Amino acid sequence: MRKPILAGNWKMFKTVAQAQSFVEHLQQLAPNTTDVEAVLCAPATSLYALNNLLAGGTIKLAAQNLHQAEEGAYTGEVSALMLKDVGCSYVIIGHSERRQYFGETDDTVNQKVHAAFKHGLLPIICVGEDLDQRNQGITKNWVEEQVRAALANVSADDVSRVVIAYEPIWAIGTGQTATAQDAGDVCTHIRQVASEMYGKEKGDLLRIQYGGSVKPENIAELMAQPDIDGALVGGASLDPGSFAKLLQGA
Ligand code: PEP
Repeated sequence: MRKPILAGNWKMFKTVAQAQSFVEHLQQLAPNTTDVEAVLCAPATSLYALNNLLAGGTIKLAAQNLHQAEEGAYTGEVSALMLKDVGCSYVIIGHSERRQYFGETDDTVNQKVHAAFKHGLLPIICVGEDLDQRNQGITKNWVEEQVRAALANVSADDVSRVVIAYEPIWAIGTGQTATAQDAGDVCTHIRQVASEMYGKEKGDLLRIQYGGSVKPENIAELMAQPDIDGALVGGASLDPGSFAKLLQGA
């Protein structure tokens, strides 16, 4: 009922030529994948060129961030309309690196979610605890607060188009992965929260990814959890061979 979704977050890696070469290679390795929705979250500089390459195929394009304003004097920023204009279907919102290094808060995340929907972009909303919070045993409460804040005033129609990425901060780029069981438990909690907010039918439709050092070797175990519907992958998404294996594993 929920189509798995695998998103590669390239972060600040790849020139346009490198991004194009990745896509050409991936299209040979995994042509027209349909069982799993494949999404490439490329740097803003490559989006236009990739959109041309991906046209007519099944791989979707995503941005890694957007600004919440329609337009204006926000030097260096990119709006939802601009991302839609270059062919993005999805946009990552509230990645922990944005929260940590660029001061994003639950409030800006919520504003960005609304900006995305206004222009027909689907948000991949990142939530997750740091190591300290995990050691204090407050992971579920923390993640619940982030989910509730991100979805404030999001309509029941829109919520079924949201993707939530549960990414424990201590597992991102560290090689440490949450156990499949732990990751699955938090994802189950996220679904329960969505069901409380919007009703069980909507909660059941919400797609929830796990992210944090996902690799071809561990994706199948994570995907076997009933409430994990996909993965948001950083490091292991940079190589087309590895991304193709992740698609097979998902
Ligand atoms: C991420 O960037 O969202 C991520 C999960 O990175 P990595 O897979 O490298 O841990």
